[in-house]
Amino acid sequence: MAYDPNNIFARILRGEIPCKKIAEDEHTLAFHDINPQAPVHALVIPKGAYVSFDDFSEKASDAEIAALTRMVGKVARDLGCAADGYRILSNIGQHGHQEVPHLHIHVFGGASLGRMIN
Ligand code: C5P
Repeated sequence: MAYDPNNIFARILRGEIPCKKIAEDEHTLAFHDINPQAPVHALVIPKGAYVSFDDFSEKASDAEIAALTRMVGKVARDLGCAADGYRILSNIGQHGHQEVPHLHIHVFGGASLGRMIN
């Protein structure tokens, strides 16, 4: 799938749409999900134009991959989730029910989340 430069997260990255920013570095942005599904629900996105984890894992630089991974952990720690645990998730494509076509890692926490899958 070709990257749509006008998807909502691309527009957030360009500052055209506001977000509740948590943290930012050279390669990544983290912000609170607008429709939280848990007491903590953050999104971590790369600044590069990647549709999903699928093309990111193939095409992103090692620096981008490292930055995204480290930002996910930092956000979870900074939002107080590390001690009791949390969940990370990324929906990919049609079968994954991905809504926004710019890679995002969901970080859920702040409560016991229940099992999603055995
Ligand atoms: O994984 P999926 O693509 O379904 O998730 C998209 C997420 O982006 C949703 O959790 C939605 O609430 C969030 N969102 C947001 N800010 C927007 C638009 C969508 O946090 N402006």
